[in-house]
Amino acid sequence: MFQKVLIANRGEIALRIHRACREMGIRTVAVHSTADSDAMHVRLADESVCIGPPPARQSYLDKHAILSAAAITGADAIHPGYGFLAENADFAAMVEEHGIAFIGPSPEHIRMMGDKITAKRAARAAGIPCVPGSDGPISSEAEARRVAADIGFPVLIKASAGGGGRGMKVATDADALAAALSTARSESKSAFGDDSVYIEKYLSHPRHIEIQVLADTYGNVVHLGERDCSLQRRHQKLLEEAPSPALDPEIRRSIGEVARKAMLAIGYRNVGTLEFLYENGEFYFIEMNTRLQVEHPVTEMVCGLDLVREMIRVAAGEPLGFTQEDVRFTGHAIECRITAEDPVTFAPGPGRIGDYHPPGGLGVRVDSALYSGYRVPPHYDSLVSKLIVHGANRQECLMRLRRSLEEYVIDGIPTTIPLFHRLLDEPEFVRGEYDIHWLEAFVGGHRR
Ligand code: ADP
Repeated sequence: MFQKVLIANRGEIALRIHRACREMGIRTVAVHSTADSDAMHVRLADESVCIGPPPARQSYLDKHAILSAAAITGADAIHPGYGFLAENADFAAMVEEHGIAFIGPSPEHIRMMGDKITAKRAARAAGIPCVPGSDGPISSEAEARRVAADIGFPVLIKASAGGGGRGMKVATDADALAAALSTARSESKSAFGDDSVYIEKYLSHPRHIEIQVLADTYGNVVHLGERDCSLQRRHQKLLEEAPSPALDPEIRRSIGEVARKAMLAIGYRNVGTLEFLYENGEFYFIEMNTRLQVEHPVTEMVCGLDLVREMIRVAAGEPLGFTQEDVRFTGHAIECRITAEDPVTFAPGPGRIGDYHPPGGLGVRVDSALYSGYRVPPHYDSLVSKLIVHGANRQECLMRLRRSLEEYVIDGIPTTIPLFHRLLDEPEFVRGEYDIHWLEAFVGGHRR
């Protein structure tokens, strides 16, 4: 087992990883920018190294600075968390070339799934159903017209290098196609330095359902069920739950098996998430994330597993030690992503935390690096806390979520807690009747 793990991240996920290491008796190294000197994960880690100024490009994205920090402190493994360098195949390869373990999938799998076109091809070849669309990149407007005519409007132009919902444009008819194509291209070029795009059928009322997989290096693969992440604003997830209110055990088992067999076929290792759209009883693969997801706690709560510990164990060469038959799903879990944003306008509101009182009690988990007196810096993602509740069933979860949100005190900055209160008053949400467009209409409606 590793002696010392360097955590190449910040915020709640850095703390999350530190906690798993601590429980495994592994020493931790925090890296941080000058804006994060007072961060909770820096305070708790065994050692810390300042790797640069606040802009992420000069600190959390600086591969050489992070590798140097690992060399100086003698870390034998690096956990990348999510975001930043987590899905950077070059970084994973560099880490391994330096004789340090990368706690995640192989650089080859990160590369394969990092490009959405090669990811879809690999998925299709491994027997996974995909959204109908172009087989590869679109090279001309004429080709776009041919593909669109073939699959039917509306269509979605997507960036091959896409992420975070950027570089995606809907075209409702042939007239809108040229404009959507060029906007998606230029958005992708400026966000990712790559203008290759592809076309998919735009599904009108799907749910976003993703399957968590976990694999060791000996060919043992399990799936850990699904998460329903349909509640999104601008293609960004706000609330996730497991199990999905839309699936029954038989469908869950069959899509889980499809995912598991596909991962076996490509020789995948460590954790990963296959994202699907689910409409009219059919699953359509959209992409795979080769890392730990923000919403991994809902899976942990229903499976009773520590996913970060599992990642560390398999990266250290330990066998999984359990099979698919051993995986048990218990109860229901919901996660709210609480951000430092205005709950109506979503304007970011970084600042100093006054009083801070997180909720507690049976079935309540708070993954957050906040504390009273902490200053939320303006340079990074606005996620400040994940409130996760677990209950015997969805009904109990919703009650527990309501009372937990009532208890939660975060003074000094705006947060999206009021938005979740409103959500819990919505009969459709309470009944679990929502698709990927539902929340957008809900928050839009409140703004008028
Ligand atoms: P990103 O990597 O930018 O997050 P994804 O491919 O994961 O992009 O898609 C993000 C979200 O965009 C999905 O969860 C879904 O809400 C929406 N989306 C993606 N593809 C389609 C599609 N073919 N039809 C309808 N909505 C889609």
